[in-house]
Amino acid sequence: MRPTIEYIEKRFDEYNSQMFGGHLPRIPIKLSDARTFLGQFVSKIRTLPDGSREYYDFELRISTRISLPQRTIDDTIIHEMIHYFIHYNHLPDRTPHGPIFRSIMNGINASYGRNITISHRITPEEKSEAISRPIWHIIAVMHFNSPTKKIGIKVLPRNAQKVIAYCNHVSRSPEIDRIELYLHNDPYFNRYPTSATLRYHATTHSDLMPHLCGARLLTIHADTLAYAK
Ligand SMILES: [Zn+2]
Repeated sequence: MRPTIEYIEKRFDEYNSQMFGGHLPRIPIKLSDARTFLGQFVSKIRTLPDGSREYYDFELRISTRISLPQRTIDDTIIHEMIHYFIHYNHLPDRTPHGPIFRSIMNGINASYGRNITISHRITPEEKSEAISRPIWHIIAVMHFNSPTKKIGIKVLPRNAQKVIAYCNHVSRSPEIDRIELYLHNDPYFNRYPTSATLRYHATTHSDLMPHLCGARLLTIHADTLAYAK
């Protein structure tokens, strides 16, 4: 089939609510005659007065040059939506199909039985990245007091002082029952921005625990971090 704008918009809305929590605002969708890509996510970039960079003018393009199976078209739409999600949330991926992209892609493939790939535009650079060393994260897991028993997660910079300052600050909150620190290289955690601000991300026991398998528990000794035996 060759998709229409209406078809792509419908799929966009559907996958947005199913896979991205409905967080992605609609963006312009254009059909393209390109032979070099099936789909493309484009944006402009500007530098703000404080030196940070901002992406804007997002657009999603789908090529209709050749007729493709519906599944391939849908996988292409989701692939471009992952790019959009990463840009929209300012997630710091290292390359266009870096560890964060792959982590989200693998999660969607596993959860929704999709076959999204990066193969249609893999570069030698990305191939070497795929086998390069994994990223180690320091993960703080906050257990809240009853009755909520909420769980918060935070990926901290690998800097002992910042980790200690964060834990000291957070543990003073009467809402917090305890904080656990883990060291892990599961790509699942690439999706969380690394920062020492007090903001945390809400999660659930069942979402988080499978990914902490194989993590090393860290303990704080006065002013250093050490592995727990
Ligand atoms: Zn891509």
